[in-house]
Amino acid sequence: MSLTKKQRDFLNSAHFKEARMRGLKNAWAKQANGPKCGAKTRADGAPCRKPVAEEGQRCRLHGGATPKGKNWHRRQFPKKGAPLSKLQKKLSELKRRDGKAEERRAAMSPEERATHEKRRKANRPGTPTERQQARDGRKAKKLIDDLRQNKKPDSGEISKLEAHIRKLEGQAQKLKLDQYDEDELPEVFK
Ligand SMILES: [Zn+2]
Repeated sequence: MSLTKKQRDFLNSAHFKEARMRGLKNAWAKQANGPKCGAKTRADGAPCRKPVAEEGQRCRLHGGATPKGKNWHRRQFPKKGAPLSKLQKKLSELKRRDGKAEERRAAMSPEERATHEKRRKANRPGTPTERQQARDGRKAKKLIDDLRQNKKPDSGEISKLEAHIRKLEGQAQKLKLDQYDEDELPEVFK
């Protein structure tokens, strides 16, 4: 890209140099005064001095830009108002990545494919709440299935509860017996 004389003159002008320096100083001040990343750096283990990424706890290089919380599994797109070229770049990058993933799947052996599918099924996307609900649902379903088949679930909780219930029933029976006179006792209790 060649610059016109007018453009060159502008870049060399005191006005532009001053504006550029002002911008740099603002950025430096922001970096110096804002919250720091603090992640352990690979070079010497010292805390990272870079400013944190937007809405993050870490800088972009240390995962600050990685989606978290309910968006962890969602693809992130440029913010509203960002240049169209940014969106186009993102879309072509995603297309390239999807193509590569498809290539990898196509090259898998049947066993590898089975493992892959199993993992995919086990790691379903969703918000943390949705995934917790699904987990609870699966647990409840297993419990009901086990009860239907009259199988004791392997967790010790049920047997503990049953023992507790027996103990309480025993205590209730004893209380009941205490209330009766010996003569009024039904035959079975004598
Ligand atoms: Zn960092």
